[in-house]
Amino acid sequence: MENKKSLLILSSSAAIIACISFPIKVGNGILFDLRLVAQIFGSLYGGPIAALVLALVNILYRSLFDGIGVINTLVVAPIHLIGLLFVRRWFLQRSIKQKVFYSFLIGIFSTIITLAAVRWVSGIGIPIKLALQYALIQSIVLCLIIYVVEVIQKLWNVQNKIFQAQKMETVSQLAASISHEVRNPLTSVKGFMQLLQETALNDNQKNYLDISLSELDKAVKVIEDYLAFANPNPMDGIEALNVEEEIQRITQVLHPLANKSSIRMEVETSTIHIMGNQQYFSQCLVNICKNAIEAMEEHSSGILVIKTIKQKQEAVISISDTGIGMSKEEVSRLGEPYYSTKGKNGTGLGMMFVYNCIKEMGGSIQVESEKGNGTKFVIRLPILYPAKLEKTDQAS
Ligand code: ADP
Ligand code: MG
Repeated sequence: MENKKSLLILSSSAAIIACISFPIKVGNGILFDLRLVAQIFGSLYGGPIAALVLALVNILYRSLFDGIGVINTLVVAPIHLIGLLFVRRWFLQRSIKQKVFYSFLIGIFSTIITLAAVRWVSGIGIPIKLALQYALIQSIVLCLIIYVVEVIQKLWNVQNKIFQAQKMETVSQLAASISHEVRNPLTSVKGFMQLLQETALNDNQKNYLDISLSELDKAVKVIEDYLAFANPNPMDGIEALNVEEEIQRITQVLHPLANKSSIRMEVETSTIHIMGNQQYFSQCLVNICKNAIEAMEEHSSGILVIKTIKQKQEAVISISDTGIGMSKEEVSRLGEPYYSTKGKNGTGLGMMFVYNCIKEMGGSIQVESEKGNGTKFVIRLPILYPAKLEKTDQAS
């Protein structure tokens, strides 16, 4: 992410420098160039720092040359900087079509500002035909660049999604093959062992058989758990759940783990009902909290805060830790199958399960994290209304 921004700043700066170095002479000593296209594009997509750097590059590099354009740039570049910082957030949230349309308008505005500044600074009036040509060329070039960049970005996102889906498929296939290849033989082994139990055996043999059977049960449980991780179907067996009860239940499970690392748990909940599969939902919460505890293991006196509130039509569950935190790139990889930074201690399946589950439950997850400063997961789920709650009670 940071690399991408640096690259954007560098390439836009290079474009500004190239434009200033090789302007187009249009007679009467008037010089035209397209450096503002680079400044506008870089500022919109690069953010405040990029915008500031590009405005400075524009002003400083132009000041190396003579001419009235130096003062003109001193006026025009800061106006663009401020204006673009104002509109960039709004602009970036538009659809591709809207972006192309608004970038055309920005190009026209930019031309008007530039020509007004030329007139104000030097008193030179640009002929209307020339002004129109400049406005059109600048706006169309800006539109085209933004269109191409947006389309490439969209293609890249789609490709990324396909890649993720393929990875998911591999996980599911693996799960399915484990199910067939391993679970079935285990079941027949168990059957034969049970038959053996019925034959005449001495105490020692009976004991060995009991241990083998219980170990076999454990193995089956591990495989079933893995299946649940890899291929969750959280809408199987859904019921009305009280978020408060679920959180109390999981905090009991997590207490020993938190105590071991001297982590304090603060829990603030109230009764909110949602619909979901109880086992899957509590597994989601456990996975998030376990990661939070693991992120605080190295820190002394970590705090895990779990809060729930009812907001409009949603149950909002926030789980925050004071652990190692994540960079933006790490946050964007959460939920990817096998993505883990814990080496042999991690599976990289926990968050994948969480994301799948919450998505299937009609909810969303938002992550705020800062390297070294902790992480906050905010889960939003649709609440169950009292009327519906009564119905589900009657049904069960
Ligand atoms: P695992 O815990 O097995 O590594 P997960 O899917 O549970 O796999 O998590 C994936 C990765 O996300 C972790 O390895 C860790 O790098 C990161 N992560 C998840 N939650 C947190 C958190 N609260 N703080 C810091 N990093 C986290
Ligand atoms: Mg985990």
